[in-house]
Amino acid sequence: MEGKITLQGILFDEKSSFLRGPAMAPPEIRAAYHSSSANYFAENGIEISPDVFEDKGDFKIDQYLDIESITSTNLNKYIPILTLGGDHSISYPVFKAFHNVHGPVEVLHIDAHGDLYDNFDGDKYSHACPFARIMEEKLAKRLVQIGIRTLNTHQREQAKKFGVEITEMKDFDPHHLTEFTGPIYLSVDMDALDPAYAPGVSHQEPGGLNTRDLLHIIQSIKVPILGADIVEYNPKRDLNKMTAMVAAKILREIAGVMLRNQN
Ligand code: MN
Ligand code: MN
Repeated sequence: MEGKITLQGILFDEKSSFLRGPAMAPPEIRAAYHSSSANYFAENGIEISPDVFEDKGDFKIDQYLDIESITSTNLNKYIPILTLGGDHSISYPVFKAFHNVHGPVEVLHIDAHGDLYDNFDGDKYSHACPFARIMEEKLAKRLVQIGIRTLNTHQREQAKKFGVEITEMKDFDPHHLTEFTGPIYLSVDMDALDPAYAPGVSHQEPGGLNTRDLLHIIQSIKVPILGADIVEYNPKRDLNKMTAMVAAKILREIAGVMLRNQN
């Protein structure tokens, strides 16, 4: 059977500003997804068995911008694509390739951080910058962020300049979620979760989402999800691989909503 969702892993963490480690994430998330401690079902009743995926494998990256051409090669415009990172810098080249096929779509970005820096330590492609690049190149129709709890003055200015719709973590209410009008791209940074639920991240930022809130946000998406990524899982910081299990659960739930919401 042909897969219904393209899956690719990007082994890359050279744009991390604090710690390396997310390049090791994709095989760990895959192992957790296959763990016999759980089954393959998403909570909506759809089975996300391995044959759901057109699995392209994990890619070791030599040059940052190669991520775009690798994604272009893997991308089939008729089925959604799910990418396992890698640090968050991968979202810009992945989204560039995605944009070449789908044009500008609405973006839902779930993160502790806005990732809107013009540059970070002089690097415009740092994992602190991908959504500044996406917005200044007008690759997204709209950018909605949830879970943010680290905005400084520069990032507030950037958000205003780009018209980013931010639900800061301090204001988060699971009963009032932003609605979308068309298909979306979903980017999930594992550090959006409170480190109590997901310690395996480079930037542990207290006061975040609990796992159920994050699943609720994903399950509440009513429009097609054409692309998604799960980034910033850092196996070096994990405890008993518990964050890998959370990432694998998010993988199953995103895949379940991708299949449920297909046109
Ligand atoms: Mn991020
Ligand atoms: Mn983050």
